[in-house]
Amino acid sequence: MKTRRNFIKLTALGSAAIFTSSCLTSEKKNVTVSKLQKDIKKPIVISTWNHGLEANEASWKILSKGGTALDAVEAGVKITESDPNNTSVGLGGLPDRDGKVTLDACIMDHENNCGAVACLQDIENPISVARKVMEETQHVMLVGEGAKQFALEKGFKETNLLTEKSKEAWEKWKEESKYQPVINSENHDTIGMLALDESGNLSGACTTSGMAYKLHGRVGDSPIIGAGLFVDNEAGAACATGVGEAVIRIAGSSIVVELMRNGMSPNDACKEAVNRIIRKHKDLANMQVGFIALNKFGEADAPELRALMAAGFVLFLVTLLVNFIANIIINRTARKG
Ligand code: ASP
Repeated sequence: MKTRRNFIKLTALGSAAIFTSSCLTSEKKNVTVSKLQKDIKKPIVISTWNHGLEANEASWKILSKGGTALDAVEAGVKITESDPNNTSVGLGGLPDRDGKVTLDACIMDHENNCGAVACLQDIENPISVARKVMEETQHVMLVGEGAKQFALEKGFKETNLLTEKSKEAWEKWKEESKYQPVINSENHDTIGMLALDESGNLSGACTTSGMAYKLHGRVGDSPIIGAGLFVDNEAGAACATGVGEAVIRIAGSSIVVELMRNGMSPNDACKEAVNRIIRKHKDLANMQVGFIALNKFGEADAPELRALMAAGFVLFLVTLLVNFIANIIINRTARKG
């Protein structure tokens, strides 16, 4: 029960301004963080890894014209999915140990609607199939053959996702790696994207070909709502990249969002989730996990901010390096000024 509220003043808040402010409330701690509408940084889009920069531009085209965060994140990550040179997402993704490219993706909007596909083969844009699951079925997740059948019924084209480049890499791996999956930064990097639109609504998308040379049928965190991605329009949004098994074990993205709801900054919330993974795992060799987070106010802090100016936007390349475990680049596209 809300008996008393402590207002943490992040900005000078006049009495009349209360009606135009946004609040992030923790029932448990009776803490309300308020911000004036004008101080909320929106629209904004952030994504993981270097390949996210191009994806951000596609999202920005939608967000800057007043489009929805949901449309923006779908359009953004589709760029990466359709890039044959990216070997960790969609077309051109490195296959599993049997040579099959299997894709995982999920999407979530500001009303907690969500859709996901896992272990999907031969479809270039799993994120759009995930959106169809969300919007046109009563379910949240479809997997394997069922997901493919659903995609084909919805008009998606069957495509061979194994490019020559990825096939060669797989064949080489088979000779040297004795048929064991390999975990390191070159073999896995999902694109996760979070956006806050002009109306103040958050959405997120997460898509990957998963860990390279995994066991056939393995599904990571990326399509799991609450692990690879979580959005709660009252608090914020988060997504994960890295060793999916570790992220699933702590329900990573939902933890980050809950910590933000309880008043933590996106930066501290991500760090706490990473620390939780450190605490829960005895063997951290080859472990690499990172989170990005965006709160309701459009804040996406992270340590070591490096600001770069680029064509009309402010792009922040953020390197978050927590001990040896997290190594992630956040690309942030926000309106200049
Ligand atoms: N999290 C993804 C997975 O475990 C891979 C990645 O982010 O690199 O499948």
